[in-house]
Amino acid sequence: MKFQEFAPTWYEAIQILKRSGWTNWNEYFEFCDKHNINLGYNNKCIVGEAWGFSDKYMDGGCSECQRSAVGFNLAMKSLSFFNQSMKLFEDHFCEKHLEKKK
Ligand SMILES: [Zn+2]
Repeated sequence: MKFQEFAPTWYEAIQILKRSGWTNWNEYFEFCDKHNINLGYNNKCIVGEAWGFSDKYMDGGCSECQRSAVGFNLAMKSLSFFNQSMKLFEDHFCEKHLEKKK
């Protein structure tokens, strides 16, 4: 399972930045507002969406997901930072949180 499957809203938001060479912040922020996603909130960030727009990964949840949620704020600096962070999170999320559902 990949980013676009576990966090489809965020996937769309990131496509706006990717299409524009990581420059179209106005359209990105408009999209985020419209779809009520926000990296500053535990339940609305990328990790939050993967958890079903919840913050259950916080207190007593999953420390690695918590680290990823913080990491994505820094990762927005550039596409290569973002890709690195997403790869780590995808691997972690698929291994630790999706296997159990099978
Ligand atoms: Zn986790």
